[in-house]
Amino acid sequence: MNKNELEKVKQKALQNHIPIIMDETLEVMEQYLKEINPRRILEIGTAVGYSAMCFTEFLGEDGKIDTIEREADRVKEARENIKKVGVAEKINIYEGDAVEILPTLNNKYDAVFIDAAKGKYPFFLKEALRLINPNGIIFADNILYKGYVMSDYNKHKQRTAVRNLREYIKEVSENPNLETEILEVGDGLAVSKIK
Ligand code: SAH
Ligand code: MG
Repeated sequence: MNKNELEKVKQKALQNHIPIIMDETLEVMEQYLKEINPRRILEIGTAVGYSAMCFTEFLGEDGKIDTIEREADRVKEARENIKKVGVAEKINIYEGDAVEILPTLNNKYDAVFIDAAKGKYPFFLKEALRLINPNGIIFADNILYKGYVMSDYNKHKQRTAVRNLREYIKEVSENPNLETEILEVGDGLAVSKIK
């Protein structure tokens, strides 16, 4: 992989206010992923491909990533980026709404990274649980959403997102098949290991 090109993608995304994964979140995910040496990762929310490209470093041999993005211009940019960085053969991008694409998938994944519309997190969880392998890990980024999720202030305009993020936390915490940690890293990261 061309790290220099990857750094350019990162800087451009930051300049354009694209909400790419934070360095500290990536570091924490690396620790978990090292343990399971994933062969297949599913990402929901590609943006310009930055996190997916970073994850290629954590893949086991012959590992591949599937990632879903609904904005056509972002898909186009992501495809250009993964070519420039030299990881195109490791990343497959599905263009479309994850709400429609996920139910059509039947591959199994060792890790799922949820990083798209917050109001859809409970639905994404349901699909992730269907697609995850035993001993797999489901991650959900932005789970604490600037602190709104854990505060009692709920008259915020992002009320629907907050309600759904709380619902996600409740479901992963109560599911007896999951061992979940909610980490205050970055914008909040939920880590759910399949027992
Ligand atoms: N994972 C990326 C950042 C993703 S930002 C990284 O860290 O580099 C969230 C992305 O999810 C946006 O590009 C947005 O267009 C996309 N998105 C939001 N809701 C979606 C949905 N329902 N289906 C597919 N993509 C979605
Ligand atoms: Mg995010």
